[in-house]
Amino acid sequence: MHNSARVALFHGVGQPFEVSRQPIVTSNEANVLVRVKLASICGSDLHTITGRRSVPLPCALGHEAIGMVAAPTQLRDAYGNSLNEGDRITWSIAASCGRCYNCDNKNLPQKCEGLFKYGHAGGETNVGFSGGFAEYIQLQPGTAIYRIPSALTDRETVPLNCACATVLDGLDAVGVKSGDNAIVQGAGMLGIYAACYLRENGCESVMVVDYREDRLKYAARFGATQTFNLTDTSVDDVGHAVQQITNHHGADLVLEVSGVSAALSNAVDWLGFGGRCLTLGFVYPGADVSLDAQQVVTKCLTIRGLHNYHPSALGEAVRFVEEKRDRYPFDALIGATYPLVEIDAAFERAQRGDLIRVAVDPQME
Ligand SMILES: [Zn+2]
Ligand SMILES: [Zn+2]
Repeated sequence: MHNSARVALFHGVGQPFEVSRQPIVTSNEANVLVRVKLASICGSDLHTITGRRSVPLPCALGHEAIGMVAAPTQLRDAYGNSLNEGDRITWSIAASCGRCYNCDNKNLPQKCEGLFKYGHAGGETNVGFSGGFAEYIQLQPGTAIYRIPSALTDRETVPLNCACATVLDGLDAVGVKSGDNAIVQGAGMLGIYAACYLRENGCESVMVVDYREDRLKYAARFGATQTFNLTDTSVDDVGHAVQQITNHHGADLVLEVSGVSAALSNAVDWLGFGGRCLTLGFVYPGADVSLDAQQVVTKCLTIRGLHNYHPSALGEAVRFVEEKRDRYPFDALIGATYPLVEIDAAFERAQRGDLIRVAVDPQME
């Protein structure tokens, strides 16, 4: 192992990443030093580089990542087992204390008062190995760490610790019932995991709405029973189709993962009595939405948000994809992989939007 390693630093909107070497500190066995195998570019990384949300600069971005334990550690995995050098692992996107008001009283460790979020730390003195776009990442105590089953490929596993865990935790919060008619707004990574999970959990129909045909094609491979492209189908026409498909009962469940402000208003229109809406897409400030609140009241609707997920959801995500990997091409959702020195090209590729995920392999030359 080397004394220093490369990390890609974000310096602000419109500026190229700087790939520089930083010293590695391995003396602290209260942390885990991890050699990053693969890191994928999440939609929220794109919000950051386009200035839709701000981070301290310079910032070590990247929170969807997996790697190998690279030094002896006292930390244990989420099930209490010791961790050994060479173990291939995934981890929760944040570390929490387990003792504060939000951790203990509210069971929201993802909102810990001392939360440390990977891929979001920065500043001249604080940046270090805290993000996935680097050869190494240093994991803190209070991180939920899971060993990756040997059957799973790196590409199948890398988006689990943000996209998949968030979707599974959110759907668990609103509940999925066998026979539900569900709508997914947005066919990105979260929408695709959702389509697959809803179908596998007995939903009668899984209707997926997006503006991009290429993404809707993925959704169809991952369990969508109907897809609607809003570039050539009006919102009203989708509403009519929802009525027909649901025998005029309206949808039971709408999952918003688009971040588009009209989505909640449409969700309220499309839901039937007692309907549930889970919203996950508004992860940037100032997302003002308007909706017909009378429908929320008179249809007895539930609107539920969720952010960062409870760390236990990552264990569920690993189990889900391990169980379903023979039925769905999860591996193909990573459409391109770039070496760390080409991280600018990787972000450009991700911004085109035609690939579900673009990854960076920090060990690739
Ligand atoms: Zn993310
Ligand atoms: Zn806490």
